[in-house]
Amino acid sequence: MVTDSLTDCKVDTAAVQDRWQRVLQRIRRAEQQFQRVAGSVTLVAVSKMQPIAAIVALAAAGHRCFGESYVQEAVPKIAALTAWPLEWHFIGPCQANKTRRIAEQFAWVHSVDRLKIAQRLNEQRPPELPPLNICVQVNLSNEDHKHGLTVSEVPDVLAAMAQLPRLKLRGLMTLPAYETDFMRQRQVFAKLRQLQETINQHGFMLDQLSMGMSDDLEAAIAEGATLVRIGSAIFGARGSSDQ
Ligand SMILES: *Cc1c(COP(=O)(O)O)cnc(C)c1O
Repeated sequence: MVTDSLTDCKVDTAAVQDRWQRVLQRIRRAEQQFQRVAGSVTLVAVSKMQPIAAIVALAAAGHRCFGESYVQEAVPKIAALTAWPLEWHFIGPCQANKTRRIAEQFAWVHSVDRLKIAQRLNEQRPPELPPLNICVQVNLSNEDHKHGLTVSEVPDVLAAMAQLPRLKLRGLMTLPAYETDFMRQRQVFAKLRQLQETINQHGFMLDQLSMGMSDDLEAAIAEGATLVRIGSAIFGARGSSDQ
């Protein structure tokens, strides 16, 4: 047990590492089962609401990619972990007043859902850093309260974003409505893959699909996910203040 300095919360390092290994096994098994190239799916460990000691547990085991959803929470965690060569992915709602810190602190943003946010990230990306990797969030369930562009909005917004030199357009992301049926999970993810194919036929070179979480990563991998965002299957349940 390690006591975390930020939240004074005890973390069972061995249990976190064990769950992480099991998630890696699920990913490798799904890659095999669905004829994906071995190693073509990257695990982004979603460490939102988790203490620094839980991140250290994975960093010490060799894991590098972490996802955070809230800027205020992420900035001090990133600062506390600069001794590790970690790659930080922002996956939460992008508010305009938070873009500077996102542009300064993260290597990837999965959740860009309007041009204004992309323009701010482009202006605010520090010149000494490489271009910021961007996935555009797409709302496939068309629920009004969910973030993301509609399918019909995506081509024009991507065309405008492609003009922004400090951003590197990498792919599409989606966060589907909760669904337990495997075939229905696949149907939603297939729509994101088809959208990527259509867009690439129009001259884009999007090479990433950010889709799949703890309960649906196999369905996402079956449909071409390259980045899976996994929280609770690695770290256990989050606090009750989760969104
Ligand atoms: C919290 C979160 C995840 C991780 O969800 P789990 O079900 O805990 O794996 C993935 N993506 C986004 C956008 C999230 O907010």
